[in-house]
Amino acid sequence: MDVPPALLAALPDARSITVLTGAGISTDSGIPDFRGPQGVWTRDPAAARLSTIGAYLADPQVRADAWRSRRDHPAWHAEPNAAHAALAGLERAGRLRALITQNIDGLHQRAGSAAVLEIHGTMREAECLACGLRTPMPEVLARVDAGEQDPPCPECGGIQKSATISFGQPLRQDVLDASITAARECDLFLAVGTSLTVEPAASLCLEAVERGAPLMILNAEPTPYDAVAAAVVRGPIGETLPRLADLVLGAAR
Ligand code: NAD
Repeated sequence: MDVPPALLAALPDARSITVLTGAGISTDSGIPDFRGPQGVWTRDPAAARLSTIGAYLADPQVRADAWRSRRDHPAWHAEPNAAHAALAGLERAGRLRALITQNIDGLHQRAGSAAVLEIHGTMREAECLACGLRTPMPEVLARVDAGEQDPPCPECGGIQKSATISFGQPLRQDVLDASITAARECDLFLAVGTSLTVEPAASLCLEAVERGAPLMILNAEPTPYDAVAAAVVRGPIGETLPRLADLVLGAAR
């Protein structure tokens, strides 16, 4: 692992690590990322329309396509991988300040992580955009399977959407505030499997760096934050993250 010797030596002393994960941590579980070489948007740039709130509200066909894409999402059949497990292990060992994820797939929780800040929401629930009612996603998808193209809210008849943050939607302020605090209060910040191109999530890296915490980036491709990182690790996350967790825990691998 290409890490400066001083940082390598300091890893066993990291007691309050904040981690930001992105789609790249779940590719080994069979869920494609958006912007990697096999990413959903790399292969079909028009797919981004399904994740834009203006198009979603304006066009019933976008909503019908979005529900079908949720129903067919690989996350329903995916299992957490070694990298998700490594983060759950760090939390169990009391070494994590926070786990912030941009992912909507719920795999961190399935791997055993208890405290996850889902900064972009979750696909496991639907939310009514009018009254805010939350419904388990499988209940809405059952209505889609039964022939409804765009199931309205069972309470108020409003438009429902996956409880994820689309482009043009605000983040939940409480989750964002907790994420910023966790970035400011950590002694090591790890950015894992993210292109660091979606704001404000990406600039959490700066919140940490500006307060003196070293930033480590584990990602196959370059990111806009590589220049301020104390270390950039390019290998496959399924190997690099478990190894890093072992170094923190003082276990040999
Ligand atoms: P992104 O697609 O922009 O970037 C993913 C990065 O991970 C890429 O730079 C890629 O090179 C790297 N990567 C992929 N697999 C890797 C591996 N095995 N080892 C090392 N690096 C690997 O993803 P993002 O930065 O998270 O932003 C995308 C947005 O899309 C997020 O907001 C997220 O909510 C959403 N998204 C979520 C999921 C999910 O929940 N699993 C999947 C796709 C997109």
